[in-house]
Amino acid sequence: MIQQNTSVGYDSKVEGEVIVTRADSVINWIRKHSVWPMPMGLACCAIELMAAGGSRFDISRFGMEVMRFSPRQADCMIVAGTVTYKMAEVIRRIYEQMAEPKWVVAMGACASTGGMYRSYATLQGVDRVVPVDVYVSGCPPRPEALLDAMMKLQDKIGRENAVKDLKATNEVLAATPGARVGA
Ligand code: SF4
Repeated sequence: MIQQNTSVGYDSKVEGEVIVTRADSVINWIRKHSVWPMPMGLACCAIELMAAGGSRFDISRFGMEVMRFSPRQADCMIVAGTVTYKMAEVIRRIYEQMAEPKWVVAMGACASTGGMYRSYATLQGVDRVVPVDVYVSGCPPRPEALLDAMMKLQDKIGRENAVKDLKATNEVLAATPGARVGA
């Protein structure tokens, strides 16, 4: 019997070294170790994002080195830099093109709050156009701060109700004319 907050169960009395688990645990475990980021580099913070991919910080230790420049192949948008109103619309469109489930990280003061730019041209936080899962403070944040945020995102993914969300998505798709329903 697996408890609600336990991810695996092992019973030595069962022949054949059987480990039982919950579907949520398996799906979340796979998802959180294969996050493919969409690098939305808009200003100086993007340099730190690039550094996180280099050998010194090595984001591939977390299975996240596969930066994708197509929204159809990415599931985590990392917004790194100042978001102008001109780009806000583009960010929203790219976010909508990403498949579910998807997550957003706001990297740095500018992406999180507009930073020092209290101007008519700057969006005061990217969470006005897309739902943000993790915010990273700093101007710019160091690559370690981004890695810490990605680990927090992994924790968040690990707590999601994957099966329930999948069923809900399928119900919405089933009610949508012309949509393709998944397994
Ligand atoms: S938070 Fe600082 S480093 Fe990052 S984009 Fe804004 S001004 Fe540049």
